[in-house]
Amino acid sequence: MSHRQFDEFRASSLFCARCNTAQPVRSRLLLVLPDRELHEYLCTVCGETVGQREVTAADSVAEELARRAQEARRAGRQVRIL
Ligand SMILES: [Zn+2]
Repeated sequence: MSHRQFDEFRASSLFCARCNTAQPVRSRLLLVLPDRELHEYLCTVCGETVGQREVTAADSVAEELARRAQEARRAGRQVRIL
């Protein structure tokens, strides 16, 4: 999976009922539970809640690892893991 595809996977736009079209969204951390986090997606145009997502601890770890791998690639291609 390329870097670009990974970004798009993270819900960059969702259908908004109030706008009656797909709109760019931003995510907001709604609730933190011992084993998961609840995020909601808000329409950036009207502020309507357009979706929710549960992130389990395992997902968070996977995202953190993906993020670190991305940063490592960005930081320096001259670094090689032997
Ligand atoms: Zn909207």
